[in-house]
Amino acid sequence: MSWNFETDPAFQLELDWIDQFVREEVEPLEHVLGSPWDIHAPLFKTLVRPLQQQVKTRKLWACHLGPELGGPGYGQVKLALMNEILGRALFAPIVFGCQAPDSGNAEILAHYGTPAQKERFLLPLLSGDIVSCFAMTEPQGGADPQVLTTRAVPEGNDWVISGQKWFASNARYANFFIVMAVTDPAVSVYKGMSMFIVPAGTPGLGILRNVGMADETATHAYLEFDQVRVPADHMLGAPGEAFAVAQVRLGGGRVHHAMRTIGLAQKAFDALCERALSRHTQGSRLADKQMVQEKIADSWLELEQFRLLVMRTAWRIDQYQDYQKVRKDIAAVKAAMPRVLHDIAARALHLHGSIGVSSEMPFAGMISRAFQMGLADGPTEVHKITVAKQVLRGYQPCEALFPAYHRPTAAAAARQKYQAALDEIAP
Ligand SMILES: Cc1cc2nc3c(=O)[nH]c(=O)nc-3n(C[C@H](O)[C@H](O)[C@H](O)COP(=O)(O)OP(=O)(O)OC[C@H]3O[C@@H](n4cnc5c(N)ncnc54)[C@H](O)[C@@H]3O)c2cc1C
Repeated sequence: MSWNFETDPAFQLELDWIDQFVREEVEPLEHVLGSPWDIHAPLFKTLVRPLQQQVKTRKLWACHLGPELGGPGYGQVKLALMNEILGRALFAPIVFGCQAPDSGNAEILAHYGTPAQKERFLLPLLSGDIVSCFAMTEPQGGADPQVLTTRAVPEGNDWVISGQKWFASNARYANFFIVMAVTDPAVSVYKGMSMFIVPAGTPGLGILRNVGMADETATHAYLEFDQVRVPADHMLGAPGEAFAVAQVRLGGGRVHHAMRTIGLAQKAFDALCERALSRHTQGSRLADKQMVQEKIADSWLELEQFRLLVMRTAWRIDQYQDYQKVRKDIAAVKAAMPRVLHDIAARALHLHGSIGVSSEMPFAGMISRAFQMGLADGPTEVHKITVAKQVLRGYQPCEALFPAYHRPTAAAAARQKYQAALDEIAP
């Protein structure tokens, strides 16, 4: 096994281009546009579409996808290096064709879609002509799928879906919904739920309200499915296969969020450092105070540790090409990311004093994002449980009364092992 922390020089040129492009052309967009998924907003066409075209021309569009789906198939390490730049800007993922939940929805359509589903839903999604929604969570719970009750029943050549979904991001802009519903209530949800594609505008599908967060447009929908009828060929995957289908989107989605979180935390860290060098109080710069230096040092090393964990996870995905083999790593980066962003953004907020806590600075929004990241795709606790379970697979319980690392026990074992040598020097 070799270790290598270098970036291919040719790819570094691409990264340099991306960095400048994101800072100069993409970061300003969030100050004049609403939601990045509002692709029919008049200014989207004027401001975002030309940037997407530049990205496509440079062959950097949808870099999470392989060539068979129109992406360059760079692999996860290169993607991580890209994504940590994109994480700085709210509009960067949509400009580069890799925004959630569309990236994950495209992956499951690519894996499980029929030729007709791919033609109608996947192709326009990949080209950025439409956006989509993923609806799994319900008002009564999301962390535990066993509480999900939205039901789909067969009727003639159709499925009829009834129930409610909660926090379905971007439903208001979506062209279609990928919906998880119970098709066999007699078995556990893990075997009895199926995935459906529901086109927007299907009768019976309504948005009860859009829920907003902190300073953003309200884009997370409370959805009602009132006898929503879709043809049988709108099932995605086989009956009872919803969790297997969902797994394809979640592994990649979680690690891509983590990659982008590096960029957002870096943005907070840059502000923290600039402020420390710029602000004077009690005769010196903030940067000269040891308690401020500690904040900088802690932030730097937390971010660097997290970045290494994400990069190693990306590298392992590339090595194994099997998300099951990197479950622990993905759960670990998912669990680590909210804390890293929260702590660095909170220090940046605090060091900026009154303006830091105000709506004139981005820090409160970043802290809210940290909490969001601790919930979207499952709460931190659930991912820590996965890490712990996977870690414990590598251990065995001790059958003896005292474990081998108990000092008297270890000393007795050592004396037995070296008995001959000890006897030789004995007086
Ligand atoms: C920004 C954002 C976007 C989202 N987008 C979507 C989307 O597009 N589609 C979709 O379907 N859903 C989406 N969600 C919903 C998300 O998947 C759920 O919020 C998540 O699964 C948690 O479900 P819940 O909100 O019902 O919280 P609950 O399940 O009620 O959990 C609440 C809290 O209980 C604690 N908890 C839960 N389980 C355990 C446990 N086993 N051990 C210890 N403590 C535990 C945790 O502190 C957890 O935060 C989104 C959420 C956010 C924040």
